[in-house]
Amino acid sequence: MNKKYDIIIIGGGLAGLSAALHLQKLGVDVLVIEKQAYPKHKVCGEYVSNEILPYLNFLNIDPMAEGAVAIDQFEMSTKTGELIKSSLPLGGFGISRYALDKMMYDEVIKNSEVIIDSATSISLKNEIFTVTTQRNEKFKSRFVVGAFGKRSLIDKQMNRKFISERTHWMAVKAHYNYDFPANKVALHNFEGGYCGLSKTESGSVNACYLATLQSFQKSGGISDFQKNVMSRNPILKEFFSEAEMLFDKPLSISQISFSKKTAVENHVIMLGDSAGLIHPLCGNGMAMAIHSAKLFSELFKKIIIDEESERAVLEKAYQKAWKKAFAERMRTGSMLQRVLLNNTASDYAYRIINRFPSIIPRIIRKTHGELVA
Ligand SMILES: Cc1cc2nc3c(=O)[nH]c(=O)nc-3n(C[C@H](O)[C@H](O)[C@H](O)COP(=O)(O)OP(=O)(O)OC[C@H]3O[C@@H](n4cnc5c(N)ncnc54)[C@H](O)[C@@H]3O)c2cc1C
Repeated sequence: MNKKYDIIIIGGGLAGLSAALHLQKLGVDVLVIEKQAYPKHKVCGEYVSNEILPYLNFLNIDPMAEGAVAIDQFEMSTKTGELIKSSLPLGGFGISRYALDKMMYDEVIKNSEVIIDSATSISLKNEIFTVTTQRNEKFKSRFVVGAFGKRSLIDKQMNRKFISERTHWMAVKAHYNYDFPANKVALHNFEGGYCGLSKTESGSVNACYLATLQSFQKSGGISDFQKNVMSRNPILKEFFSEAEMLFDKPLSISQISFSKKTAVENHVIMLGDSAGLIHPLCGNGMAMAIHSAKLFSELFKKIIIDEESERAVLEKAYQKAWKKAFAERMRTGSMLQRVLLNNTASDYAYRIINRFPSIIPRIIRKTHGELVA
C-alpha cells in the first residue's frame, strides 16, 4: 500500500508547483503528479505579469536570476498593421515555460515528491481520496487539488460540463531568432486571431498565436496559414519572412475552451486553468494560476491547519475567494476578445484608442490584479 499524503496535486504546471511550494512551507505533506517530464516547452505567450513577482520570490523563485527579461512596453496592431503603443502600468517579464516550470520543479523536489505519470481517475470514499495513474499506481490523500490545466483526461473522467462543449480555438507557438526589443510585448491581430511576440531568457523571441479553427482550417497547415492569412498584417509578414525558427517544428494545441468552469468540483479544489482560462490576449493566465495557489494555500492553513474545520468550509471559502479575485478579469477578458475578433467593433475600438491612448493602461488594469505580496 502506498503512503498516504495530506494533499495530492494533479498537474505540475505553474499552479500545481506554486501550491506545492507554498504548502511545503506550511509543513504539509504533498505529492505532485505530473504527466510530462521536465523541462518541456509549452504553448504559451511567456509574458508574465509583475503582479506575481513578490509571491514567486516568497516561494524562493527568482525568474530574473534565471535571465528573465523585464518588459514595460506594449504594442498592438490591427489586422492591417496600424500600430498602437503604450507603456504597461505594472509591467512584466519574459521567460520561457521551459525555464520557469523547470526552475519551480527543481525547488519543489527539494522537499516534496513529484511523480511523472498521468493521473487517470480520482475517487473519494470515507473522506479519503484515491488517485489512480496510467501506470496503475494508487495514491491516497485527504485532499486533492486539480491543477491539470485547460483540458485533461481527468476532466473527462470527472464528467466536467465544459468538456462536452465544442471549442473553436487552436494555438501555435515557436521560438525564433529575431531582432526584437527586450522590453516589449506585442499583440498583432490577423483575421480570426492574434499573435503575441516577446523575448525570453534565452534571447529568442517567442511567437505564440491563438486562431479560430474556422480561419485555420481554410489554410493548408501552419506555414500556409502564417504566410497567407497572418501575413496580411504587414508586421507579421515581416516577422514570418525574416525570423529564423529555432524549433524543429512549431508546437500546436487545439480544443482550447474558454467556457465557465467551477472552482471546486466533486470536492477537488481547482487551481489555475482547471478553474477557468482567461483569454490569452490579457497576458494574465500565468499570474492568475500562481495567485490561485496562494489563495488555496492560505485558506488551507487557516481553515484546515489552524481552525481544524471541515472540508466543506474550505471549499466554500475557496470558491468565494476565487470569484472575488478573478471573476471580473475573466468577464473583461471575454469582452475584449469579442471586440478584437469582430471587424467592425475592432475598427471602432482602434479609432477610439488612437484618439485616447490612455485607455490602454486602464484596460490592462481591468484584466490584471494588484501586486500579490
Ligand atoms: C495561446 C496561449 C497563450 C498564452 N499566453 C499567455 C501569456 O503570455 N501570459 C500569461 O500569463 N498566460 C498566458 N496563457 C495562459 C497560461 O498559459 C495559463 O493560464 C497557465 O499556463 C495556467 O497554468 P496551470 O498551472 O493552470 O496549467 P498548465 O501550466 O497547463 O499546467 C497543467 C499541468 O498539468 C499536467 N497534466 C494535465 N493532465 C494531467 C494528468 N491527467 N495527470 C498529471 N498531469 C497532468 C500538464 O502536463 C501540465 O504540466 C496563454 C494561454 C494560451 C492558450
